[in-house]
Amino acid sequence: MALSLLRPLLTWLPRRWRSAPPIDPGLWHGVTSALPFVAALSAPEQDRLRTLCAHFLQEKEFHGAHGLVITDRMALTIATQACLPLLHMRDASGAVPKEDAQRLDWYGDFVGIVVQPGAAVAQREVTDGMGVVHRYREVLAGEAMDRGPVMLSWDEVSRAAELAPQGKNVVIHEFAHKLDMHGMGQGQHPDGAPSLPPGFLGMATDAARQHWRLTMQEAYAGFKEAVAMAERFGGEPPWLDDYAATHPAEFFAVTSEAYFVQRERFAQELPTLLPLYDGFFRAAP
Ligand SMILES: [Zn+2]
Repeated sequence: MALSLLRPLLTWLPRRWRSAPPIDPGLWHGVTSALPFVAALSAPEQDRLRTLCAHFLQEKEFHGAHGLVITDRMALTIATQACLPLLHMRDASGAVPKEDAQRLDWYGDFVGIVVQPGAAVAQREVTDGMGVVHRYREVLAGEAMDRGPVMLSWDEVSRAAELAPQGKNVVIHEFAHKLDMHGMGQGQHPDGAPSLPPGFLGMATDAARQHWRLTMQEAYAGFKEAVAMAERFGGEPPWLDDYAATHPAEFFAVTSEAYFVQRERFAQELPTLLPLYDGFFRAAP
């Protein structure tokens, strides 16, 4: 039976009854050694990441757009970076996972990953406060929709090692949006405040949420100020893409990229966010 026919059955089964096909050792080595922020992980961390990737590859469907053929190497390159943020997280219910693959419930709202060969051009339409409709074209390296597929530009994904020193990573960006969107109600929008694990930084739930919001707001305001100063007075632009200044959800996604691919610089540039992100992304080390 074709895998596409088996898949609904596989995903219906509880994950503990499914065994994911193992990843070829040569392929794993080739992909992970090409990503410096993955190659730097310890052996037990790499083992766990490999388990997550095996389940991710079993559960997700890759589609190449415009005739792009998705090879095993491409799919694993995406899976590795998509699963990296989950490595030390609690599961989506806030519990310490009994099995590593339970962490994939964070990404349980979608199956499809659409890979574009280059940047995608999206037609957008917004209605402003005066009721005027504006249509514009936007060039995208990636996109994540709530309960919908993730879109990635292979051109951007394939430059992961080259972009890591700048703190950039498109796969982590889009999957950080997915984490932010998890558990949102219909009509809600991601806001850079994902659901926090119980006991986050030793705080009660409401205090933790409040602490997250205030710390993020302050860092976001500081970043926007630095971008504005650089634009107006030609000062040194802040580290990280000024796209982070467009929305709190983008600030969370852009800073998450840096947290995973350039942790030391992240700690220097965004010191207030380090304990925050450690508390969220490393709640079950
Ligand atoms: Zn984004």
